[in-house]
Amino acid sequence: METNPAEASQSAKTSTRAGNYFISNYPPFSFWSEDQRVEVEIALNSEPAPDAKLGLYHHIPFCRKRCHFCYFRVYTDKNARQIQEYLDGTIAELKAMAERPLIRGRKLHFVYFGGGTPSYLSAKQLHELTDQLKAILAWDEAEEVAFECEPGTLNPSKLTAVKDIGVTRLSLGVENFDDHILQINGRAHRAPEVYRAYERALAENFDQINIDLIAGMLEETEENWQRNIEQTIKMMPDSVTIYQMEIPYNTGIYKEMKASGKLVAPVADWETKRRWVKEAFAALESVGYTIASGYTAVKNPEKTKFIYRDELWSGADLIGLGVASFSHAAGVHYQNFTEIEPYQESIAAGELPLKRAFRTNEEERMIREFILQMKLGKVELGYFSDKFGVDIHEHFADQLSNLADEELLSVEDGFVILNRDGLLCVDNLLHDFFLQEHRTSQIV
Ligand code: SF4
Repeated sequence: METNPAEASQSAKTSTRAGNYFISNYPPFSFWSEDQRVEVEIALNSEPAPDAKLGLYHHIPFCRKRCHFCYFRVYTDKNARQIQEYLDGTIAELKAMAERPLIRGRKLHFVYFGGGTPSYLSAKQLHELTDQLKAILAWDEAEEVAFECEPGTLNPSKLTAVKDIGVTRLSLGVENFDDHILQINGRAHRAPEVYRAYERALAENFDQINIDLIAGMLEETEENWQRNIEQTIKMMPDSVTIYQMEIPYNTGIYKEMKASGKLVAPVADWETKRRWVKEAFAALESVGYTIASGYTAVKNPEKTKFIYRDELWSGADLIGLGVASFSHAAGVHYQNFTEIEPYQESIAAGELPLKRAFRTNEEERMIREFILQMKLGKVELGYFSDKFGVDIHEHFADQLSNLADEELLSVEDGFVILNRDGLLCVDNLLHDFFLQEHRTSQIV
């Protein structure tokens, strides 16, 4: 690929280049392999650890339109029959899982519907799907049922159905309040749909409403970002999640960059995106919010938890249903097939639809939980000595002291505490805690 010299000279540190920035798991996905799929059988045939929590993730890979920045497996062309076949496949998958010794007889502690767009399903499909899921694995003791929505899909009867099936945490993918920016980034919804959906959601009285925003979408400006902050504060949702725009290789934006020989994505640089999130966090704090992670501000931290995140980052077992879903079973990570056809064929053949897996050892599990909990901004050292018998301060002495020298964190009173600058670039800091053999790998 030809490169533009002016672009090449831009600082690699601040310009937004293609690739994954966000760290969502450890060891990196590139180390998961087909060879290790046998480990999944072994894990599912083992007994659960006495205190292990169990969660369910259900992936709905359908959207009205593909956003230009999207890197998920989504389909925009499936008809009602194909969608139903897919949902039936996920039910069959859960049935097979629920018979395994690791899962049998356990109750779900948390449930998450992600995508894609779970709210793309009709009210009828939602009722039928969740009735079947609940009949296989009870949710009556689930502390949280989270559900992602695209605002334009939420008519009143849909929202009533979402509430009726037991959703406690409704997450609205707003991303931006400006119609031009929504349009230029390929979003299917526009701002009026956000306001309508939010009012309707308030009327349904969900335990918690979260809104997602993205700092640094295509054509984002200083003025518009300030308007996003002002609008968010007018709405005062229970929780606000702000991601910094990244451009993974399988996005429409990257394809355009590649076609025109560009190395640097046409979005704000990292320094600007971090400043925008910093300004949003400061504005939210000034009206009473608390910063709960590198991405989240919550209005009432006593009431507004995010159990899916917190349990996952503390090593819970997770059954991921559907195409491309990620699971974690008794220390074994695995991912399902990433295309709908092999996924469904494998389910129909009575097999596990596995693409790749990785069995972690104790040290890798400790590192995984440590780096993921770093994203909360505060890590309790006692948790790691109790659970893993590891003194984090000693184990990561060099890394912690380097980051303390860079004035990004401190270790005090039994906690690693990231300051705001550390928290806003936390994903950049985590590689240093990886085992040496995992450091050179790409995250994808
Ligand atoms: S709505 Fe979400 S999952 Fe669907 S295309 Fe857009 S970013 Fe991807």
